[in-house]
Amino acid sequence: MLDMLVELRQEDTKSDRFTVDLDERPAKIVVNPSGNELFFDWDATVDDSGRLRQCIFCNSDLFRERAFPQITGIVIVLAFAGGIAGVVGLLTTWTMLSAMVVVLALDIAILLFDRPRLVCYGCGTRFKNTPIAPHFSGWDQQRAEQIKRSIS
Ligand SMILES: [Zn+2]
Repeated sequence: MLDMLVELRQEDTKSDRFTVDLDERPAKIVVNPSGNELFFDWDATVDDSGRLRQCIFCNSDLFRERAFPQITGIVIVLAFAGGIAGVVGLLTTWTMLSAMVVVLALDIAILLFDRPRLVCYGCGTRFKNTPIAPHFSGWDQQRAEQIKRSIS
């Protein structure tokens, strides 16, 4: 299994980052460059199949975030613009078609190579390169406000 990549956040900027082996589940990790020691309780935060359940730092809920924005919307706009341009005679059908094929291929490539990550509602820590349990959904404002209230 690949090592999970963890990116810590402090005041919304990246601070330390480190990798951790979810098979080993070390109780302590020293992060560089700050040299801080971090302690983990894996029992509560990782499920039986080695997938994260909660944030390993603050036990808050996580949400799934895509590494790339989806460009399907752009494809639709382009198709629309292409359609108009075609009607006005600015574009030949072939230019239009090839442009659409390129964008569509890009969109599919993004889908294939996208590595969604988990982000903590509480502390903003990002967990990359790790299997994501299917029940995680995208960022939810209600959930985020609930968690903010319970922390402060
Ligand atoms: Zn957290």
